[in-house]
Amino acid sequence: MRLTVLGRWSPYPPAAGACPGYLVEAGGQSLLMDCGPGVLANLQHVASVFALNAVVVTHLHPDHVLDLFALKQALEFGRFPEVAPPLRLFGPPGAFEALPAWMDEDARAAFRARFQFFPIAGGTAARLGPFVLRFGATAHSLLCFAVRVEAEGRAITYSADTGPSATVAGLAEGADLFLCENTLPPGEEARAEAMGHLSAGQAGQIAARADARRLLLTHFFTPAGDYAEEATAAAAKEFGGQVLIARELDAHDI
Ligand SMILES: [Zn+2]
Ligand SMILES: [Zn+2]
Repeated sequence: MRLTVLGRWSPYPPAAGACPGYLVEAGGQSLLMDCGPGVLANLQHVASVFALNAVVVTHLHPDHVLDLFALKQALEFGRFPEVAPPLRLFGPPGAFEALPAWMDEDARAAFRARFQFFPIAGGTAARLGPFVLRFGATAHSLLCFAVRVEAEGRAITYSADTGPSATVAGLAEGADLFLCENTLPPGEEARAEAMGHLSAGQAGQIAARADARRLLLTHFFTPAGDYAEEATAAAAKEFGGQVLIARELDAHDI
């Protein structure tokens, strides 16, 4: 299984950066997890939108969904006049109504025609080609789901956006790669529960509790600049496994 980072910033992309998006590939199939601004452009460095088998959006904050609208355009016009068949879209219940709500009726219908929607429920699993997906609700400011992806005997868990959470730790149990947010720069741990976000040290605590093999830190707070070095050090104090930093277009073989 391979994970390629397409974006790692929040809540807006910096110059030449992108908000969260991760391509997971196994057995010739591929899955896009989150689709924030900048993700569609980066995706096209490594894969065709027509090769995607499904998209998962963890929650409806703009940094995780805005490029779904660009993706819809690519699916509709990328091979004009041919139109791609509907792409499976997993998202929080109500997402299919909420996402195109600002559009007029024709545009809403065109958006919905490009996707086949599956609402996510916590504690459930879905099979998709070689992938088994499991979901759990995180501790965030609106309904958000962490995702565990298993394929080829390996497991990746993606925290999505969360504060400290036993559910996320449970989903990350024994994962070969734990892709975890670290929105709070080191030293800002006290804000975790109120904000529904983690610091790198807190991500390291979850990785240790879950006995994950590797921790990949992502979801960096754009205005704080690149605190990758401090984050790596803070996570390594809590977690004995390898600590890695998500960077656009880096591929991780698992
Ligand atoms: Zn969020
Ligand atoms: Zn976010």
